[in-house]
Amino acid sequence: MDRYIVAGGLVVSSKGSMPANLLVEDGRITEWVGDLRERDLPIIDAGGTLILPGIIDAHTHFHMASGDQFTVDDFSFGGRLAASAGVTSIIDFIEPLSTQNLSEAIMARFEDVKGCPLDYQFHLVIPQRFARDPAWFELIDRYHLAAVKGFTTYREDGLCLDAEDLENLLAWASKHVGLLTFHAEDDGLLRAAEEKLLAKGQSDICFFPQSRPLDTEEIAIRKLLAIGSLPADLYFVHLSTRKALDTIIEARQTHPDRALWVETCPQYLVLDESVYEREADLNTVCPPLRTHEDQAALWMGIRTGIVDVVASDHCAFALEMKRSSTWQATRAGLPSVDAILPVLVNEGVGKGRISWEDLVRVTSENPARLFRLKGKGSLTPGHDADFVMISGHKPLDTKETFLQSRAAYSPFHKEQMDRRWLKHVVRRGEFLVLDGRLEASLGNGSFIPLG
Ligand SMILES: [Zn+2]
Repeated sequence: MDRYIVAGGLVVSSKGSMPANLLVEDGRITEWVGDLRERDLPIIDAGGTLILPGIIDAHTHFHMASGDQFTVDDFSFGGRLAASAGVTSIIDFIEPLSTQNLSEAIMARFEDVKGCPLDYQFHLVIPQRFARDPAWFELIDRYHLAAVKGFTTYREDGLCLDAEDLENLLAWASKHVGLLTFHAEDDGLLRAAEEKLLAKGQSDICFFPQSRPLDTEEIAIRKLLAIGSLPADLYFVHLSTRKALDTIIEARQTHPDRALWVETCPQYLVLDESVYEREADLNTVCPPLRTHEDQAALWMGIRTGIVDVVASDHCAFALEMKRSSTWQATRAGLPSVDAILPVLVNEGVGKGRISWEDLVRVTSENPARLFRLKGKGSLTPGHDADFVMISGHKPLDTKETFLQSRAAYSPFHKEQMDRRWLKHVVRRGEFLVLDGRLEASLGNGSFIPLG
């Protein structure tokens, strides 16, 4: 079905909702049709449904190397899992292995992604050993990559960048349109916290949150902003604390010449540190899960526009890979690519914390705009036909159980992940989910050009 009309739905954007009949042709929305009687085309009845732009998950780790193993959800399976919860595009990472140079890492990742049913883009991770080599400036442009990612920690993995390295990244960002993103946890502070725990003999996995204290993001952000004479824009991934948000609010006032963007994740919105008293090893993630006060600040941040993007940081390790009795030996990361839309609908819109408009802004419009994803993030004519249809408050009559990550556990509660309201998920005109059921054959996604 190359041409059809989605008729009678309410299309949501960050500015509001309005009824529209979407004409879909060859994977794109070409027109909002006024009078349906003039068109002899198949009609998809969207009466009583909300139509949102497809979710863009700007932070996934499919098939990511971890020591001599990999995260268990690859692009093909992880893409299906994501589609089953409304995701139509992802931005994953190119992270050079110790044996690879940047070009080799890029080529290998374009092989890995084959078979992904979603449209995709990449962030290029700059390890310390390449930070002062300007060769990557050219690679980003040559391969049209969405963004660069730097780290202020993980020294043992060769990722932590020092002041001179950071200067080089900032110089790139100030001269190019590409976005510079950071994992902001302060390495010095983390080391001090770890040494303190070790001195007290506190290696048990239950001390994981104390090994990454509450102020580690705030301090890393402050240091990053103090570096560099060039006013580069910065995007901070997976912020978890009220303190970090307060730091951003303050910094936006004192640095009006720079754009500072904030991402958070579903796990920081609804899961809290109490899990470390029970199943600590299954819930390790960096930064750790925080307090109810931090959760409230993050929801408020979405509502008031302080938080720009909600992405998953999906990083799935199988149960046996997660099992660990000490915080030093843990593999941090959670399966969450299928949690963005359910958590924001059930816990956000459903509980009056955010509006549908807020949801569209942080899951679709902003990621498309910030990472310059051409054709994404809007349902106005000229954009890709990527959308999610939500059936009011009436649960769909589906017996199907949802797909689950190969991690084979979920940190989220059942009611947080409920999605019986999810009717259709469409990527460039193709139905990935039809009447609540994941389609058997999803076809392949495409590399998203930059706009
Ligand atoms: Zn991540």
